[in-house]
This record gives sequence, C-alpha cells and structure tokens, in this order.
Amino acid sequence: MILPPSTLGMLGGGQLARFFVIAAHEMGYKVVVLDPDKKSPAGLLADKHLCAAFDDAEALNEIALTCVAVTTEFENVPAATLVALTNRLPLHPAASAVAICQHRISEKNFLREHGFPHVPYAEINSEKDIPATDSGLYPGILKVARFGYDGKGQVQVSTAEEALAAFTACKSEQCILERRLTLDYEVSVVLARDLAGNIAAFPTVENAHRDGILDVSIVPARCSVEVHEQAQKLARRVAEKLGYVGTLGVEFFVCDGSIYVNELAPRPHNSGHFTIDACVTDQFEQQVRALCGLPLGDPRLHSKAVMVNLLGDVWPEGCDPEWHALFVQQGLKLHLYGKHEARPGRKMGHFTVVGNEADVVLKSAMDARLELVKANNLSF
Ligand code: ADP
Ligand code: MG
Repeated sequence: MILPPSTLGMLGGGQLARFFVIAAHEMGYKVVVLDPDKKSPAGLLADKHLCAAFDDAEALNEIALTCVAVTTEFENVPAATLVALTNRLPLHPAASAVAICQHRISEKNFLREHGFPHVPYAEINSEKDIPATDSGLYPGILKVARFGYDGKGQVQVSTAEEALAAFTACKSEQCILERRLTLDYEVSVVLARDLAGNIAAFPTVENAHRDGILDVSIVPARCSVEVHEQAQKLARRVAEKLGYVGTLGVEFFVCDGSIYVNELAPRPHNSGHFTIDACVTDQFEQQVRALCGLPLGDPRLHSKAVMVNLLGDVWPEGCDPEWHALFVQQGLKLHLYGKHEARPGRKMGHFTVVGNEADVVLKSAMDARLELVKANNLSF
C-alpha cells in the first residue's frame, strides 16, 4: 500500500485531474501534475506543476524520481510516455488498457472480440474502405479514431459519397463509420477496480446530451431493472477484460429497449461527478485508492442527484456569471474548475442538486438552471 504523505503523479491538468488533486490532498497525499498549459486547472492546485509536453523526457524523469505511482486523467497521453513510465514506477490504468480506449478502432474491435453488444461499425483506414461499406451503416456517423471528445471529430453522413467527402475533410485520418441509432436514452456506469480485481460500481446514471456534449446526469437512472442490471454487468465485464485498475467510465446507448456499449473512458467520467456530493466515496477518491493499493471505498448513493454541466456558453461576454441564482438553491453544490477563459462548448464547471425525492431534485436542478440563464440574460 502506498500511504500518505507519498507523492502521486498525474498526467494531465484538466478538471478531472483537479478533482483528483483535491481528493488526494484530503487524504494526505501530495501530487505532481504534468500539463503543458501553465494555467491548467489541476496545475494551479498541485504541489508541483511540471509545465511541459507529455513526451518531455526531463519532466517524465522528474515524475519517475519524485512520485511513487502515476495515473492519468485523459486517454490521449502518448503511448510512448506510458510505456516509459511503466518501466520506472507503478502506472494505473495500464498502458495497454489506455491504448485500447484512446483509439476508436481498437476500442470497437475490443468490444467485438469480447462479444459486447455494440453499434455496427466499419473501420475506415483509407478512402478505399468507403465504397465497400455495408449500406446498413447509413445513415451513419463518421468519427475520427483519435482525439475526438464532446462530439468533436464527428460528421453525420447519409451515403457513401457523403462519407467520402467527410473522410477527406477529416484529412483522411483513420476513422470509424458507425450506424446512427435512434436512441431511447443514454446511460453510463462508473466503477473502480483494484489490483486484486475487486470492483466497486456506482449506480447507473441517465445522461442527456446537447450538441454531443453531456448536459444533464440523473441518478438513479430512470431505466428498467433489466437495463440497469445489464449496464452494471457489462461495465464490470469490460473492466475485467481490460485488466483495469483505477476508475473507469462506460457509456451505453439504449435503443429499442436493447443496450449497446458506446465508448470507454479510462479515467473518471463527467457523468460520475454526482459522486462527489451524493456518494459515500467519490470517483476521484476511488482513483486515488486504486492507484495506491488501498481498499476501495463505499460507492453507496446516499442521496438522489442531478448534475448539470456549465459550459462557457453560460459566461456573458467578458465577465463572470451572476452566481447568486445558484447559491440560493438548497441542496445545490456548485463546482467551478478555475479555467481562465470561457469558450462556447468548453466545460467550465457543474452543479449537483442532491435530495431525497427524485422528482423534486430534478425540478430544483432545472429551475436553478433557468434562474441562472435569466439572471445572466442568456438565451438557452
Ligand atoms: P465523444 O463523447 O467521445 O465525443 P461519443 O461517441 O460518445 O463521442 O458521441 C457523443 C454523443 O453523440 C453520444 O453520447 C450520443 O449522444 C451521440 N452519438 C454518438 N454516436 C451515436 C450513434 N451511433 N447513434 C446515435 N447517437 C450517437
Ligand atoms: Mg461519449
């Protein structure tokens, strides 16, 4: 077991890393954050911020020398960095698991090879693959295999001709073509798995997206018992098949009552932010615990919860929003990520409303958002 006050390494300095730093600090650990952005949200709170590229040999050497274990907050850390660190100190999740999740083709092939229900897809490695695609994949979505997030790098296509044009527009980068489903709704499961293979899963979350970006998460999800049970079972099996150690997010689609695994996040997940305010142990403390070889904490939900993302769109031109509308709401917890610049679509913060009655919690969260919009003269 790695015990406080040991120093832990974090690759990435965004909001997920910031919450990791907060959890680690509360438990008595120190954290070194590597991120090239000198104003990164986690770098601002870390004991040390290495402001360098993710493949900077000197920075990686410093992590290896000063940290006792290292983890990541995002899947796009270069594979070579993960391999280099693996050879020097414990790194969880393993480079092999991150590699699968960071590339949509390897992720989908992983799901197919292990028999997980997934959306029909085709690998698009070059133009030549497009005329050969099955017509059953249209209408579809062409998604770049790497670096896509929050709906970025995705184009809706109705025919092979449109897919070809979209592929060319994506600079002929490797892509997947996926059938576009008419979704009943979306759910996710966030869980933690330790080195011994014990799993602590959080309750199934219902997620609503807006323009491809998570908007609202509702817990417990308003889904059938079957969907809930399947989501939990599938998420556990994904973690096992990946040999995963750490906090993992698994996104699902529900379509015509059937469940499909959408994608995997080898890190805490935006849809797991409710755990900070509504669970005994949150997803970031679990990440610390799994990394350090501590027993996993109790993931039990003690309150119903609704989480609402706050994007840069909520920031009026040139100033900060009037937050009063949120602070007056009982049971509402506001979390701002300390980002210096608000841009449309950029995740700047979130709030979670907790309470005993699911309907009341949902109404309070929606009312709070409306009040925020009104107080800041925004159109939404
Ligand atoms: P990312 O979250 O990495 O941007 P996703 O593949 O999860 O990429 O897509 C973002 C959102 O777009 C999904 O949560 C869902 O709302 C919608 N979406 C993605 N793929 C499909 C699909 N095949 N059919 C219907 N909706 C989809
Ligand atoms: Mg997604």
